[in-house]
Amino acid sequence: MDCIFCKIASKAIPSNLVYEDDQIVAFRDNDPQAPTHILIIPHQHIATINELDTANNALISHMILTATKLAKDLSLSDDGYRLVWNCNRQGGQAVFHIHLHLLGGRRMQWPPG
Ligand code: AMP
Repeated sequence: MDCIFCKIASKAIPSNLVYEDDQIVAFRDNDPQAPTHILIIPHQHIATINELDTANNALISHMILTATKLAKDLSLSDDGYRLVWNCNRQGGQAVFHIHLHLLGGRRMQWPPG
């Protein structure tokens, strides 16, 4: 399968890694949309969040709690930050391996574009 995030997770291609364990990898986005822009991905290839079900409860919880821990470690928690899941084309998804965006370090706009 030709998936760039599978390649990042397996270290077949390099990334600016900030965290990893046996379930997930977190790395800096290479086209950052905020001063801090980190992607949290599972090792497991899951194309979109539409494919998630209750079997993935622990994984999704782990991804979110890792994002909140990274936000705390990077001193983003008090000022605030944004977590984003894009789903399919109209949702703005470009890479079809699920990823949680952690964005911080600037004031976010609402509604998002
Ligand atoms: P999305 O639009 O939600 O699918 O987000 C995909 C994100 O992956 C974008 O923010 C891209 O900048 C980012 N991205 C794509 N390829 C890489 C890469 N090789 N290393 C780091 N970030 C990447």
